[in-house]
Amino acid sequence: MLAEIITIGDELLIGQVVDTNSAFIAKQLNKIGVSVYQITSIQDDKLHILQALKNAESRVDIIICTGGLGPTKDDITKKTIAEYFEDTLERNDAVLENIETIWKQHVRTTMLQVNRDQALIPSKSKPLMNRLGTAPGMWIEKQDKVFISLPGVPYEMTELVDNEVIPKLKEKFNCPFILHKTMIVYGLGESALADRIASWEDALPSHIKLAYLPNLGKMRLRLSTKGSDEAQLKKDIQDQINKVIPLIREEYAGLEDEDGSVEVVIAKQLTKLGDTLAIAESCTGGAVAERFTVHSGASAFFKGGLVTYSTQSKIKVLQVPESDINTYSVVSAQVAESMARNAKALFQSDYAIATTGNAGPTKGDSDAEVGTVHIAIATNTEVYSQAFNFGNSRIKVINKAVNKALEMLLK
Ligand code: ATP
Ligand code: MG
Repeated sequence: MLAEIITIGDELLIGQVVDTNSAFIAKQLNKIGVSVYQITSIQDDKLHILQALKNAESRVDIIICTGGLGPTKDDITKKTIAEYFEDTLERNDAVLENIETIWKQHVRTTMLQVNRDQALIPSKSKPLMNRLGTAPGMWIEKQDKVFISLPGVPYEMTELVDNEVIPKLKEKFNCPFILHKTMIVYGLGESALADRIASWEDALPSHIKLAYLPNLGKMRLRLSTKGSDEAQLKKDIQDQINKVIPLIREEYAGLEDEDGSVEVVIAKQLTKLGDTLAIAESCTGGAVAERFTVHSGASAFFKGGLVTYSTQSKIKVLQVPESDINTYSVVSAQVAESMARNAKALFQSDYAIATTGNAGPTKGDSDAEVGTVHIAIATNTEVYSQAFNFGNSRIKVINKAVNKALEMLLK
């Protein structure tokens, strides 16, 4: 089964808004075995939309558009879709009712005719009820093909994809069950890992595929399978995971959570043990803390963090001994360790992470080489640190430092 995604909106083509809708839709389609053939972003322009629909119809089974469903004049997707199907717009009572409910709950001003007109949809379409906004999604079938039009607002679109689009596609196309499990492995490069697990990989059953996904200091090993028997597939994958773990016992850090993050593995462990975490950051500027706090439930273990970016704030706020800074430099193992130790004491946590480094591009407060980062972990029994050089690209240095810090805590 093939799909094409068309995102519509002038804002996408001037770089004002990054098209995250396509990535989300592609990921969800992939889970039900639908391959995305092409992703296109186009302007709110009738001819462009008509052309894109025609091109897509000639090569795929499922066409999903987002954007341009609003009540304003620049949003022309709905009219254009009606024109494409030689159809007219008709009032849909269920949609109107939904709009009125949303209006009463969230907007409360007088409803205008343009808002009521959002209940007009092509007569050949079925509405996909949008519980979060006034623009309905639309589902149109033409022979064996399906056209879907969704609002551009990401949180409305994701809700419709998960609750309406995916279940309907699964039913219509009898989609297989797809399962991915991703193992996180630290401290082994791609070839060293491949060498270590070669015998296991060679013996993998043919319905299980393996992919190596290296990323800034960590390796992800993804096992994928698809078929109709969900329970059996889950068992098959788990059996293989159980077989490979003994080969990488030291380096294996756990299974990646559904949304793909190491910090979720850490969060689960801390929450399970009832342990807490504090963070003191310098060169990572809060990025370590943010990795934890974007996920709901962080309050169960995350006590707080400090971004002590300047040397003064390390001394004044975190009580890092000035003598250590003078003797060893502000980017040093001693300073990282005292940041971790003092953050742990300050927040009264069981663990603390600290980072201090020079992300570049020029030397900052210290003489440390660009890319040097010291990361320290404080636990209830010890404080230790490691020194790294993550190169000379600022963003990469920061990202790698964050990944390493999480890895060190996980171990
Ligand atoms: P409405 O106008 O009712 O909010 P709509 O379908 O007209 O819905 P748009 O006006 O096209 O949606 O987009 C609304 C907002 O959603 C845009 O301002 C933009 O921030 C965001 N958006 C639109 N398309 C995308 C996309 N492909 N990826 C990420 N964000 C998007
Ligand atoms: Mg728009």
